[in-house]
Amino acid sequence: MALFPKYSKTREGQNVIAEQRLLKAVNNLILNAETCTGCGICVDACPEEAIVLGPVGATRRGAIDYADPVDVDPEKCSYCGVCVIMCPFNAMTLKIDGEERLPILEKEGFPQYDMVTVIDEEKCTRCTICEEVCPRDAIARDVPAFEGGDEAGKPRQSALQTKTTFTVDDEKCTYCGICGELCPSITVVRKPTSPETGKVEGEVLWEESTCDGCMICVEACPEEAITLEREFVSDRLPGKVDIQQDDCCTCRWCVETCPEEAITVEKIFEGEIEIYPEKCPGGCSTCVEVCPCNALYLPTPVPAKDLKGGSIEPNIAINKDFCIFCGACVNACPSEDAIVLKRTAIRMQDVDTDLFKDVKRKLLTTRTSKVKEATPGEVEIKILGEVQEA
Ligand code: SF4
Ligand code: SF4
Ligand code: SF4
Ligand code: SF4
Ligand code: SF4
Ligand code: SF4
Repeated sequence: MALFPKYSKTREGQNVIAEQRLLKAVNNLILNAETCTGCGICVDACPEEAIVLGPVGATRRGAIDYADPVDVDPEKCSYCGVCVIMCPFNAMTLKIDGEERLPILEKEGFPQYDMVTVIDEEKCTRCTICEEVCPRDAIARDVPAFEGGDEAGKPRQSALQTKTTFTVDDEKCTYCGICGELCPSITVVRKPTSPETGKVEGEVLWEESTCDGCMICVEACPEEAITLEREFVSDRLPGKVDIQQDDCCTCRWCVETCPEEAITVEKIFEGEIEIYPEKCPGGCSTCVEVCPCNALYLPTPVPAKDLKGGSIEPNIAINKDFCIFCGACVNACPSEDAIVLKRTAIRMQDVDTDLFKDVKRKLLTTRTSKVKEATPGEVEIKILGEVQEA
């Protein structure tokens, strides 16, 4: 008796789960529809043509709820995991019998992106810039909090890595207790008074780990008995700042903005992208919203008198430094030929299988915007020119 697999597609929160079940064997391909940018790379990569592009702009803007940026056919899918490997945004997961696995990689049947994402620990000061600019939340900043900003944080002294020295001149100090009253890091301990000496004697105790180096004690001491000196042991904060490679799309925002030039990231695609402002109607800005790399922007308006003869004011512009040639903008743009994208190379590790050659040929095809919803939830884009070989 022939056995046939059963297929299903279910939704759990933001995950759309395609399933193939044969007796006890279960394969699941899970699309995180929130994380998916609509770049369509999986559509080109799928050897079974099991993925179709959805109305990317409308779904990413939340204008419709009946479709996702891409749609997987659970029956056409062979659960090979190529889309998981090629998705630059980590939006797909393959589970085999409940376990996250990619057998095609285990058998070296397909290459992986050759990701370069390095932060030079020696150069990095553990500042907050790369974490702030990263459009993919891919920076993990593990720096001990300082107690001023976090009750459970470290004392400022250890957070800053300073060395503070506190000295009290016994000749001048009267053990008046003012410094101890003002600062929790200082305790003035007086010996019991005795008519034998008729003096107030004692000592001033100071706790370095809680001293902020604020100098209040120095200022407040009526006898000018306190000297406090603080030097920085290191000009960088303790801890570690790292790139979480699974979440990094290689946009290089962090590289371009790091003040210490501490970051090296190589883009996974090389290519060219052109925006044709004359084809772009004003008031759309869909591409700006969908770009996962924060590479597109609405330019500051140019006064009419400053426009050169015959030129038109662009509605949209791109900073190519940050574009990874993912294609999400092309897939979302409703205006024909407003954006033209040509990938010229893919940075992969050295496993050149026939399957990958086919995927590469499709990914290097020049494409342009012309998004029309052919049937509800399904769109096509316009392919231009010849297939490029890099
Ligand atoms: Fe296509 Fe393989 Fe992804 Fe299925 S797992 S959608 S066959 S690339
Ligand atoms: Fe979405 Fe692009 Fe990943 Fe496909 S490759 S799942 S379109 S982000
Ligand atoms: Fe700052 Fe650069 Fe270090 Fe990031 S890598 S924390 S931007 S110094
Ligand atoms: Fe984030 Fe882009 Fe840097 Fe990757 S390259 S860590 S995505 S800013
Ligand atoms: Fe992708 Fe570049 Fe378009 Fe942004 S501008 S969506 S990075 S192709
Ligand atoms: Fe809209 Fe396309 Fe213009 Fe971007 S280029 S604003 S998506 S019409």
